[in-house]
Amino acid sequence: MTDIPRYDFHIHTKYLGCADGTMEVPAIARECEQLGVRSLGITDHLNSLDRLPLHKPIRQDIEALDTEIAIYFGVELNFLTVDGGFAYSAEIKEQYGFQFAIGGIHNSYLNTYDLKKIVDIQHRHHLRTCREALVDVLVHPYWFHKVEFTGKGWPWFDSMQAVPESYARELGQVAKETGTAIEINATANLENKDYSDRFVKEYIDFLAAVAAEGACFALGSDAHNIGRLQAIRAAWQVAAQLGLSAERIWRPSSAPAMGGKTKGHFGSPCAP
Ligand SMILES: [Zn+2]
Ligand SMILES: [Zn+2]
Repeated sequence: MTDIPRYDFHIHTKYLGCADGTMEVPAIARECEQLGVRSLGITDHLNSLDRLPLHKPIRQDIEALDTEIAIYFGVELNFLTVDGGFAYSAEIKEQYGFQFAIGGIHNSYLNTYDLKKIVDIQHRHHLRTCREALVDVLVHPYWFHKVEFTGKGWPWFDSMQAVPESYARELGQVAKETGTAIEINATANLENKDYSDRFVKEYIDFLAAVAAEGACFALGSDAHNIGRLQAIRAAWQVAAQLGLSAERIWRPSSAPAMGGKTKGHFGSPCAP
């Protein structure tokens, strides 16, 4: 898998209270150096506007780093309600200096179990996310929080057979049209203890159907603990397995906030 760029564009920190205390920016940079990551993005959650100031120290810590790795300052968005938008705008991007945004759906938005409806709502939001101009990457398609399912007394989402191949194909087409990258997420989808080996195999088949439509992909560990950053290797491995060329691996279009080669050509290879 020598051709797959060693990127990780989905990493959480302790600053928003989601990741644990090991996830400080300098420690993340050191660990990623050890793992051979060449470019990374910090992408903490922005689930409501009042949380915005918590992102400021992340940017400051990135700018204080001394590293060879190209480091970007990003953000992860979530839908505020089932048909609501994201807590984000061009003004916020500008004001806080976010260099890219990843986003997606994090809930079933249902109170009674209906597998077809669950899948349909996810699919609809995947397409909406792709069509949102300020979002560069659709995160972890068809990931669910197991606690939501057990808490509601529902059977677990343990098979990708519930997702029609036509949905995978439409997602790939819309992603390609809009220049949105589809995430290959290591800890949510590939190395999540809540999923069986069979599920993961089905999941890779789903990604292959998306890939067949020519979409680009983003690579992310989604690590919330320093020891989990190494899971990014699973995303690199799957990208290689899918036969993706380096031009189909997304990266931000601007120069990094810190590190990397500051001269040279930037620009995403995945523009529509
Ligand atoms: Zn997420
Ligand atoms: Zn995340």
